[in-house]
Amino acid sequence: MTITESDTWTGQRVKEADTEYVIHSWSVQGALSPIPVAGGSGSWFWDYEGNRYLDFQSQLVNLNLGHQHPKLVEAIREQAERLCYIGPGFAERSRAELAEMLAGLTPGDLKMSFFTTGGAAANENAIRLARHVTGRHKVIARYRSYHGATNGAMSLTGDPRRWSAEPGGMPGVVRMLDPYTYRCPAGHPDPCPVCSGGPHLEEILQYENPNTVAAVIVEPVTGTNGLLYPPDGYLRSLREVCDRYGILLIFDEVMAGFGRTGEWFACNHWDVSPDILTSAKGLNSGYVPLGAMTVSSRISEWLKDHMFWGGLTYAGHPLACASGVASLRIMQEENIVENARARGEHLGAGLAKLAESHPSIGDIRGRGLFHGVELVKNRQTREPLVPFNAKGPAAAPVTRIVKEAMARGLYLTANFNVLRLTPPLVIEDSEIDIALGVLDDVLSLADEHY
Ligand code: PLP
Repeated sequence: MTITESDTWTGQRVKEADTEYVIHSWSVQGALSPIPVAGGSGSWFWDYEGNRYLDFQSQLVNLNLGHQHPKLVEAIREQAERLCYIGPGFAERSRAELAEMLAGLTPGDLKMSFFTTGGAAANENAIRLARHVTGRHKVIARYRSYHGATNGAMSLTGDPRRWSAEPGGMPGVVRMLDPYTYRCPAGHPDPCPVCSGGPHLEEILQYENPNTVAAVIVEPVTGTNGLLYPPDGYLRSLREVCDRYGILLIFDEVMAGFGRTGEWFACNHWDVSPDILTSAKGLNSGYVPLGAMTVSSRISEWLKDHMFWGGLTYAGHPLACASGVASLRIMQEENIVENARARGEHLGAGLAKLAESHPSIGDIRGRGLFHGVELVKNRQTREPLVPFNAKGPAAAPVTRIVKEAMARGLYLTANFNVLRLTPPLVIEDSEIDIALGVLDDVLSLADEHY
């Protein structure tokens, strides 16, 4: 075996080794041509040739504090020098401090936290705990959802990626429709029982037997699957129905949490709190793998004399927790949530202006720096630019936009016909203007299909 000397790792060499030996998520490996990334700072990253990209996606919508925030890097270094690892059975400062901070920051009476290595594991543990606490087994999840790629989380996930994992998936998952107000999934006019939440849930419960349902899990604002904001009253009506039947309500705030929508948590917009809140990504800006499941005071009490049937070698990893503590401090010191709100208004206004000259923009949805732009072939009929689950040539009208934006130095992604605009929460208006300029250019490709 030969081990290459570190100074021979050119960009080309990195790309070759990566392509040969690294399995990339959700990809046909032979179709990939990954850009070798040499570094990053703030809202930008760059390749080995010095090409710079404006990260309008915050990588996987996790890099909320941007690339290489110096205080965050320093906090990880300090913890590494103090104590890199101690098992979850011991009390450790960063772990205890982060859990205490979360009890203060999260909505309602959420109190104790279990730390994981990411969002999927947080959801896995939330479901298992909900089943133990209620003694029931079913879980209601929505179609337009993404909850992670482990077995249980993938079974909860509603989007088509779950199809390949269904044989052998977790039993007991029941689906409900989403509050997709731009295209009501049930084809209802306003007011719609699906988009108002509670009536739809209650109808499902009639058929499922509420006494068998442990939990309802939703993303308060749907991220991956279309940037869907629920109508006012939606979350509250889910809360009321869950309370009526003794069902636990789980909010998956993995993507929308920690300032992304211009509030600490997306559910704060509607002042509704869950029994269990799961988080990851923005919790520590993803500098070290970390997720959390934070539970209500009632469940915290229950845990005092019941077994918690869960554990991970890296539960509450000190490096991850230290980065979480530092990240939350930075968010407070640098008014990151307020910045997300203010920059979000600038982005929203810029997008509304683009809609005046780009007929392919059908809908703009967003608060804070969590925006989706839905592209259509026709504004009146709302015919989507590409159909749901479009792949290959059928998806080309959107993949071309994403590719052309990248060629112009703007990194963004799309989910079918919805462009996701989720830059770091530290972005500046001048950088947003650069992105709007590129969008103005590439959206003409969508207008061609109009
Ligand atoms: N939940 C939501 C809402 C997500 O967006 C994601 C990831 O994108 C997950 C869960 C899974 O998180 P992870 O990839 O850290 O397991």
